[in-house]
Amino acid sequence: MSAPTPVESAAKPSNFLRQIIEQDLAKGTYAQRRWGGGPGDAAHHAKGELDPAKIRTRFPPEPNGYLHIGHAKSICLNFGLARDYAGVCHLRFDDTNPEKEDVEYVNSIRDAIQWLGFDWNGSPDAEPYQASDYFDFMYRAAEYLIDAGHAYVDEQTIEQIRINRGDFGKAGVDSPFRTRTAAENLARFREMRDGKHEDGAMVLRAKIDMASPNINLRDPAIYRIRRATHHNTGDKWCIYPMYTYAHPIEDALEQITHSICTLEFEDQRPFYDWLLEHLIDGGLLSAPPPRQYEFARLNLTYVITSKRKLAQLVYDHRVSGWDDPRMPTIVGLRRRGYTPEAMQLFAERIGVTKSDSWIDYSTLEGCLRETLDVSAPRAMAVLDPVKLVLTNWDELMGAGTLDDCAAPVHPHLPELGQRQFRIGKELWIERGDFEETPPKGFFRLFPGNKVRLKYGHVIECTGCSKDADGKVTEVQANLVPDTKSGTPGASAIKVKGVITWVAVADALSAEVRMYDRLFNDANPDAGGKDFIEGLNPNSLKVVTAMVEPTLASAKADDKFQFERVGYFVADRIDHTPGKPVFNLAVGLRDGWGK
Ligand code: ATP
Ligand code: MG
Repeated sequence: MSAPTPVESAAKPSNFLRQIIEQDLAKGTYAQRRWGGGPGDAAHHAKGELDPAKIRTRFPPEPNGYLHIGHAKSICLNFGLARDYAGVCHLRFDDTNPEKEDVEYVNSIRDAIQWLGFDWNGSPDAEPYQASDYFDFMYRAAEYLIDAGHAYVDEQTIEQIRINRGDFGKAGVDSPFRTRTAAENLARFREMRDGKHEDGAMVLRAKIDMASPNINLRDPAIYRIRRATHHNTGDKWCIYPMYTYAHPIEDALEQITHSICTLEFEDQRPFYDWLLEHLIDGGLLSAPPPRQYEFARLNLTYVITSKRKLAQLVYDHRVSGWDDPRMPTIVGLRRRGYTPEAMQLFAERIGVTKSDSWIDYSTLEGCLRETLDVSAPRAMAVLDPVKLVLTNWDELMGAGTLDDCAAPVHPHLPELGQRQFRIGKELWIERGDFEETPPKGFFRLFPGNKVRLKYGHVIECTGCSKDADGKVTEVQANLVPDTKSGTPGASAIKVKGVITWVAVADALSAEVRMYDRLFNDANPDAGGKDFIEGLNPNSLKVVTAMVEPTLASAKADDKFQFERVGYFVADRIDHTPGKPVFNLAVGLRDGWGK
């Protein structure tokens, strides 16, 4: 038997999961697995052919909220491993909890995964799997466990069960119902199913070991009575499987090989293995079983990644919605200007480890900056405009004239061509580029100093006008003849400062949303803190900017570098050519240290 050759594995930095997969491929651990064309029990897969997928991974979100940056890590990991090792990654909606699901979330999860660049279940138009489709099998498996003496119905109260479970220092106490016969248990379980008992009156428990040092093995509950209408199965069931029971079965029915989850599930792994071993023994599931591996979840400074807390920000109107550009949701990051490339680069850069750590927010921003730098067209924009008047313009250039200027769309991508705009007597410049009395080391405009207007001429500042409060209302300068960029002799006069500008006659007015971190606290929800108190009250500042006329053709979602300022994206929701709206994606340099 020849081991399949891992695709691309050499190109990616290795990690413990890649090593495990490569060893499994080399040993042929899963080479004899069959695939029945879709999820199913042992008999179903036995009829299928050898699985064409070398490995199967899965991403199993609960459709109870929007996905966030932590999920993006898990998506890039699971779908990325499947892609790199000629496997398939499953999207499975973990909808075994009847109360919380919503189609809004289901659709947003599908969109988020596709946007990140992946498709699921082996073909671009496959439907995602749904855990609730396996309820029949889960019930059958429970009856099998009862029959085989591995499960019993416990009629103790929830409180008694809790007390009798013991704790780390104290072994548990057997339930008085633990010794019932299989026939008695089966009858009781069927009564549970048939609605003969109240919610909470009894549970089905696996029969393992009440003295186990791993509390998860002290006869965990596997089915509970819960009268709730399920979005998929309606009122068919009034008993629902517990997550710890459902999850391994879902993986096994789907012939998952490597079931990758976050570290908090490590203690569940013995039960995962126990359950699948027994169901394989009973001939219900095919061997070899999937194996669970745990990795450290993403913790990002200045960010919260709990769906419940993110939901609170939305419902309390702390942000404009799930897709507010300050939110760490995938829809929020996308609206902020993040690209799938930036997200994938981030996932690769942070890697996968087995111990928890914090990733600095600047790592995420760095990935965005790097990916936009090589691709985003450039434009000039003045975010805090003050008027500059070139006093000698009429004399030198003729009253009312506008002179053509050109600049590369991207300095390293000549194939993108040139942008055209004009310069005239009146320009908008950044208020901060002028100082009446310059501090030491200030090289931009102050009376008597020369600077270059980027892509234009050298000018010499002559003074300014101010209002009654002393606020500068206009800056004056003279154009220095024969200094226009790109003309012979233009660089004869050396200047230390270069400033950006847009001509008053040419400029487009645009709303620019300047975003800052949503939280001032680096660990907003650590140690039971009230995360609301860590909110940054100044996380959004809206300004009216004057931008280059070439931005008139910007379409929603287009990204730009506003020269000297940062990277901006035309807002996906609010931007129109007639009323442009740009969001700050990320500054030009890392500003977190300041
Ligand atoms: P939350 O606590 O925000 O509700 P969750 O883990 O309950 O998150 P699920 O929908 O159950 O959300 O998660 C789907 C998958 O995403 C799981 O396999 C989980 O391991 C993974 N995941 C969730 N949060 C993170 C994170 N911060 N880092 C890495 N993976 C994560
Ligand atoms: Mg969850």
